Amino acid sequence: MSHFVIIGAGQAGAALAAKLRALGHEGAITLIGDEPSLPYQRPPLSKKYLMNEMTLEQLHLRPARFYEDQGITLLTGRRVAEIRRESREIRLDDGTTLGYDGLALTTGRARAACLPRWAAIWSASMWCAIWPMSRGWGRNSSRGGGC
Ligand SMILES: Cc1cc2nc3c(=O)[nH]c(=O)nc-3n(C[C@H](O)[C@H](O)[C@H](O)COP(=O)(O)OP(=O)(O)OC[C@H]3O[C@@H](n4cnc5c(N)ncnc54)[C@H](O)[C@@H]3O)c2cc1C
Repeated sequence: MSHFVIIGAGQAGAALAAKLRALGHEGAITLIGDEPSLPYQRPPLSKKYLMNEMTLEQLHLRPARFYEDQGITLLTGRRVAEIRRESREIRLDDGTTLGYDGLALTTGRARAACLPRWAAIWSASMWCAIWPMSRGWGRNSSRGGGC
C-alpha cells in the first residue's frame, strides 16, 4: 500500500489528510508539522483564543482521536529538513528518514509576511508566540500545549 506524506500540518495539510481517507486512500498517511500542537485554526488564534473567547480544544481543527481513528500518523514538533526526490524519501530535523510514494507540500507561505510589522517580532511559530501570551493574560496555566 502506498504511503502518502504531507509536509505542513496547518489547515491545508490537515484537510488533505482527512480528504485522502474520505476519498478511499487505504495506505499510510503521515502528516508532519513543525509546530508543537495539533493542527489548529489560525484566524481565531489572534482574536478569540487570545481574548479567552475560545478554548484550546475549540481552536484545534480535530481532536487527537480523529487522527488515530483515521489511521493518520501525526508528527508534531518535527521539521522536514530535506526532500530527496530521487530516492523518494524525506529527512526530518533529527536525521530520521521516511520513504514516500505520494508527497504534498502544505507548508503555507513565509510566516510574518502577511502580519503587521509589530507582529513580525514574534517567534517564527505563531503558536509559540500566542500560547504564552494567553497564559499571561489570565488563562489557566495548567492548560495543555506549550513550547
Ligand atoms: C494570526 C493569524 C490570523 C489570521 N487570520 C485570518 C483571517 O481572519 N482570515 C483569513 O482568511 N486568513 C487568516 N489568516 C491566514 C490563514 O490562517 C492562512 O491563510 C492559513 O493558515 C493557511 O493555511 P495553510 O495550511 O496553507 O498554511 P499554514 O497555516 O501556514 O500551515 C503550514 C504549516 O506548515 C508548517 N511547516 C512549514 N515548513 C515546514 C517544514 N519544513 N516541516 C514541517 N512543517 C512545516 C508550518 O509551521 C505551519 O504549521 C491568519 C493567519 C494568522 C497567522
